Amino acid sequence: MGARVTAAHRFAAISTSERPTGQRVLFQQAVVLGGSIAGLMAARVLSDHADHVLIIERDDLAELDVPDERIAADPIHAVGPRPGVPQGSQVHALLPSGLKQLERWFPGFIDAALEAGAVDPPPATNRFYMDGALREDPPSGPAAQALVSSRPFLEALIRHRVLALPNVRAVCGRADGLVLKDNEVSGVRWGDEEVAADFVVDATGRSSRLGDWLESYGFPKPPMQRMGIKLNYATALFRRPADAKVQTCISIANPGPGKVARIGGFTPIEGDRWTVLVSGYADDRPGRDAGEFRDRCVGDFPAEFGEVATNAAQVGDVITYHQADSRRRDFHRLNRFPARLVAAGDAVASFNPVYGQGMTSATLHASALSEYLRGDPDLTKPATSYFQDVKVVVDAAWQVSTMADLALPHVDGPYPKGYRAIQWASGLVFKASMRDQSINHRLGQVTTMLAHPSALTEPRFLLRALAIGVRA
Ligand SMILES: Cc1cc2nc3c(=O)[nH]c(=O)nc-3n(C[C@H](O)[C@H](O)[C@H](O)COP(=O)(O)OP(=O)(O)OC[C@H]3O[C@@H](n4cnc5c(N)ncnc54)[C@H](O)[C@@H]3O)c2cc1C
Repeated sequence: MGARVTAAHRFAAISTSERPTGQRVLFQQAVVLGGSIAGLMAARVLSDHADHVLIIERDDLAELDVPDERIAADPIHAVGPRPGVPQGSQVHALLPSGLKQLERWFPGFIDAALEAGAVDPPPATNRFYMDGALREDPPSGPAAQALVSSRPFLEALIRHRVLALPNVRAVCGRADGLVLKDNEVSGVRWGDEEVAADFVVDATGRSSRLGDWLESYGFPKPPMQRMGIKLNYATALFRRPADAKVQTCISIANPGPGKVARIGGFTPIEGDRWTVLVSGYADDRPGRDAGEFRDRCVGDFPAEFGEVATNAAQVGDVITYHQADSRRRDFHRLNRFPARLVAAGDAVASFNPVYGQGMTSATLHASALSEYLRGDPDLTKPATSYFQDVKVVVDAAWQVSTMADLALPHVDGPYPKGYRAIQWASGLVFKASMRDQSINHRLGQVTTMLAHPSALTEPRFLLRALAIGVRA
């Protein structure tokens, strides 16, 4: 009898840094819908398994494609936000697990990104505040990551590498539906055209219409779970002196009597700039006014925020963004689904962005796609094992982000089974992490998606953490 395969085993296999081996060409043409992080990563994986990979994207990727050298020469003008990704102007932190996958799929990525202008802030220049108190031992989250940049910069580097692959091509257009024959996807409709496809990846983001397309062929829609988080973001850029003593600062204020939850952060990005985020929930809505932005930095966050907002020159406008919910589409629960079709990235699940899980999840979905395609799949059947692996990744991110969000007073579920007990135990593990380095380290591994959340429930670890948490 084989050993029981747990979610933690699958998570470890998917999040590996080992270079993939055993790729075989399975398709004449694979088509990816959407050319953002999830679509680009899927295209990278598919380039090992298809003669041709076609990306259909609303924005013109070929026009946006710029080599690293041009970015390095003028990062401020060479890359910028694009209409298809309206969240692109907001602070985007890449978790260490996502960085690991980028290096795995594009060897040399980290060095190239640093050369092009991404920042690796020295640890001594990072600050992490929890409820107003400076933590000497921050969890290894965004504050400790080795590569910081704007979202358009990161996407540009990935895009350039994918478009440079000899068998990948992008066309500019809007995908409108699928073509299905005998319960298998055989093509994609876009504009007035129809293109043949032996395999299709939907990576059109959180507003994906895949469910409607499936319904039009008599297939059920994937069930959707939503958690209303009512998150409000405002981001502004400031000029950054290269010798700034504090480069990165993250501040998390939890809700409590007379206190609203507030998360803010600033990180150094390419082009000698800081990107500064202030956020609020529900009716706490930072606006677009530069004076109000500065007042919030000064009044609602640690002193470092006020210093940046008052002493550094602002570049451009304050840009706001509202996200009503975290959502997941549970494809793994469907008992009827076409063959040769998968979904990836935000089209499957999108979370409260303050936890920085979205881009990293997209890289892990790509890794799950590689596991599926290298595993001798039966292409006449739905990609069940892929969706099971994606469920493992989604569950891991969902558990971390929604457990924290359920503590917000305006969030009213859905509550997982045993919520009170889990909340009590997580509170104690968190307290213990402030006292004990090894507990802090393991918690950081989970929140940065380097380890599966079950690492926190191993009996010996949990008992120790609970004991320390109770004493604290
Ligand atoms: C405010 C905010 C802040 C965030 N901060 C972080 C962070 O700090 N760290 C992090 O990891 N993640 C963050 N995220 C999440 C992150 O932006 C996404 O998870 C990430 O972009 C991966 O998404 P995706 O590629 O699946 O979809 P998207 O990035 O949304 O891209 C979807 C793509 O599909 C294209 N498209 C859509 N419909 C069609 C169609 N019919 N035909 C053709 N093309 C189509 C769009 O043009 C777009 O290019 C944040 C999100 C928000 C909203």
